[in-house]
Amino acid sequence: MALNEKLTRTFVCEGEGCNKEFTLQFLNTQPVGEPPAGIEQWRVVQNNNGLQFGYCSGACESKAALSGKHDFQRPPQIQLATERDAHVAKKAVDKLIELRG
Ligand SMILES: [Zn+2]
Repeated sequence: MALNEKLTRTFVCEGEGCNKEFTLQFLNTQPVGEPPAGIEQWRVVQNNNGLQFGYCSGACESKAALSGKHDFQRPPQIQLATERDAHVAKKAVDKLIELRG
């Protein structure tokens, strides 16, 4: 018995102020039937963070690129606590213990 996976994917343009969207049926990762008219210009942009953005047209993609939406964002850095931070935290814990009696 073969296992077939059927699913429907909805594509929504991420262009600012653009509400275009369409759905496609897939059977085992392959689109079924003809894609709807008007999505011939659909494109996906992937930035250096691995994030993907979908757009219905070059105009929507360009506006997003110019706004910096695709720019590489450094992940937040973990800052190690200083000795002063540890001292402040200890004082806060001591105060809590004191207040609870
Ligand atoms: Zn769009």
